[in-house]
Amino acid sequence: MKLLPCLRDPQCELLLLRSCMGVAKLLFGLRTCQPHLMEDAVSRFDDGLRKAIEDIVVGGGPFFGDLQWRLASLPMRLGGLGLFSARDVGAYAFVASRAQSWELQDHILRNGGVAGLDPDYQQALERLNVSLPDLDIGGFSNKDTAPSKPQKTLANALFSKIAQGLGEAFDLSPRQKAVFECLKGPHAQEFLTVIPIEGLGQCMSAVEYRTILKYRLMIPMYPEDETCPICRKACMDKYGEHAVHCKELPGFKYRHDWVRDVLGDILRRAGISAKKEAPVNFLTDPMEGRSTLRPADLLVFGWAGGKHACVDLTGVSPLVGLRENGFVAGLAARKAESKKVDKHAKACAENQHVFIPFAFDTFGSLAPEAINFLTRVQQVIHSNCLTPRGQGFVFGRLGFAIQKGLAAQLVARLPSVLM
Ligand SMILES: [Zn+2]
Repeated sequence: MKLLPCLRDPQCELLLLRSCMGVAKLLFGLRTCQPHLMEDAVSRFDDGLRKAIEDIVVGGGPFFGDLQWRLASLPMRLGGLGLFSARDVGAYAFVASRAQSWELQDHILRNGGVAGLDPDYQQALERLNVSLPDLDIGGFSNKDTAPSKPQKTLANALFSKIAQGLGEAFDLSPRQKAVFECLKGPHAQEFLTVIPIEGLGQCMSAVEYRTILKYRLMIPMYPEDETCPICRKACMDKYGEHAVHCKELPGFKYRHDWVRDVLGDILRRAGISAKKEAPVNFLTDPMEGRSTLRPADLLVFGWAGGKHACVDLTGVSPLVGLRENGFVAGLAARKAESKKVDKHAKACAENQHVFIPFAFDTFGSLAPEAINFLTRVQQVIHSNCLTPRGQGFVFGRLGFAIQKGLAAQLVARLPSVLM
């Protein structure tokens, strides 16, 4: 079964799969037919879906296994690509749909002498109990006690259970566990939702986009123990950890500039006045003194109580020095944030400026101050445009810029046979 027209553009294909070509195609059937009647359709659909995702991610290459399929079919907030499998959705769709439309059913059938539970529904409930043994589904057997948002309740319960059991089910290594935690970070997966628009910098080449997907789905990309083609100092590892940390250009600075430019553009389009690389006469490193005066990455005019704000960007990799135990997702970005505050907040305050650290990690997680800043920018946009459309697109755009910078770093070190 072929789900997708071949566009040769993984970014578009992924969007299409999520919005209309994926499980959405099958939803009506899943909601209205008893689960056991859908079994054949479900497995054929999932075979096709898995094949389509595999084509998008590895384009015929190896290493797309059960773990990658499992990750891809998780919701985005749980670190997945949001490409739901029919089997997962089929576990709850029928029950949820029935529970949701109880009143309507009663109304339509009011003169038909049909009341209470029918065997179809009861059977479906029993099946659901097998998929979710820990969830108390007693409430679903009565219309007065059924939860008001059954679909959401059941989907949350099912996917949380799958995500919690992932480490054990796939015997994940410490690195894999850490990557999975990072993918679940705040706003980390939002770049997946952006629509490719060249003028907004929201396009990647097929190689770049695939590389990012492989990095996140933990697919080996590099020959191990070969010298890094850029710095020629260190050895490559198969998952690209060196490629992320390699100090030679295009490296850290590159990514940083890219994100700054996109952030500047977001502010400009929001009608917020700001200047890139603005010289200010007080941003120094206290350890180095005035000799290392440096500009603010972005100077935002009249941001808080009429004061100008110095926005300082910093990107970190959360997997540096990864140890066996005790990994905390998001900690690297939060540490970078507080370090920046220690360094610059006092000098800014003394000079009547607000200091805003903008820390993010390579997986696209943002530290709290960065989230606050972007949330406020988003509010400004909403109040100016009065459009509820594109909720959170600011986060998607910024996240995409982070991933695009990372893609450049990873691709620059790919062996040419893989490109
Ligand atoms: Zn290197």
